[in-house]
Amino acid sequence: MNLMNRMCLACLVFALPAAATATVIAAEVNPESAKIAADMPIADLHMHPDTWMIPSVIRFWMDRNGVGWAGAGAKRGGRATWENFSKKLGDRFIAFAGHSELVTIYKEGGIKAMLDAKNPGIQELYAAVEEDLKAGRIKGVGEIHINNRRSSSSDRFKRKGRTDAPSMRLFYALVARYDGFLTLHMEGDSDSVRQLEVLLASDRRGRVLLNHCGVNAGAKKVRSLLQRNPNLFCEISVRYPPVLKRSWGSYDDRKIFDSKGVESDWLKLIEDFPDRFMIGTDTDSGSVYDEAIKTVRGGLLPYLRPATARMVAHENAQRLFGLK
Ligand SMILES: [Zn+2]
Repeated sequence: MNLMNRMCLACLVFALPAAATATVIAAEVNPESAKIAADMPIADLHMHPDTWMIPSVIRFWMDRNGVGWAGAGAKRGGRATWENFSKKLGDRFIAFAGHSELVTIYKEGGIKAMLDAKNPGIQELYAAVEEDLKAGRIKGVGEIHINNRRSSSSDRFKRKGRTDAPSMRLFYALVARYDGFLTLHMEGDSDSVRQLEVLLASDRRGRVLLNHCGVNAGAKKVRSLLQRNPNLFCEISVRYPPVLKRSWGSYDDRKIFDSKGVESDWLKLIEDFPDRFMIGTDTDSGSVYDEAIKTVRGGLLPYLRPATARMVAHENAQRLFGLK
């Protein structure tokens, strides 16, 4: 036996146990789902507006991909940025407040300032959010980066705070009063998960949309969270290629599906909780956007039951955010 063959044998010996424990990609396409997946409208719950972005260009991305609605908190420029998108895209834009304001508060005062309910910046944001919720201009507050220690491209941006900290309770109680949502970027650490459950139990009228469905949280953890908390929802941005970021740690642990199909444990989870999942993308590149929606239409929706595919693609978002 030459050296090459011996090396391959060694590979097999070491590779087999790992392969045996890995989740299996579900291979069965539902023909009816595959048919409707090709062109049914999609609601994208992770499209951040930014100061440099032109609303008509984003509308063009949406139109060429059959995306009916899209939105998330403004990356920069606060209220002026999302307001501009709301004005230009009308009901097709799903507006959330607070993202860039909370980033500024964090950059200036660190995690302590961001979690302090009495911080002047937090108080100012609270007053503005209440006005906008009351007037129906926004659907809630987010994306709030409460635990992105392993999931940020910039070291300066990485932090971990208590999900049930005073400022978080303050905004949660506010959205609960106005039938809105908090959207959270939160990795699946056990303490973060426990704190999230405290927040969710504090008022069941309040709702949380987990951005990236818990970032690195596995299907088992998300299942127990959904089981115990009827007021918790997921959007799946960044959990599939090409938006799945390799620099964020273990790629396979975070992947829910790819162009070839859905991980079996996630497929079962989505079918067991079909009214809790929504689509998200999270990119500022038009070509990556096209590829992401193509992967959703080819790698996720055809594997779901037709009724589930419709719910995940757009019906859940329509119901929860009052989209027409
Ligand atoms: Zn995020």
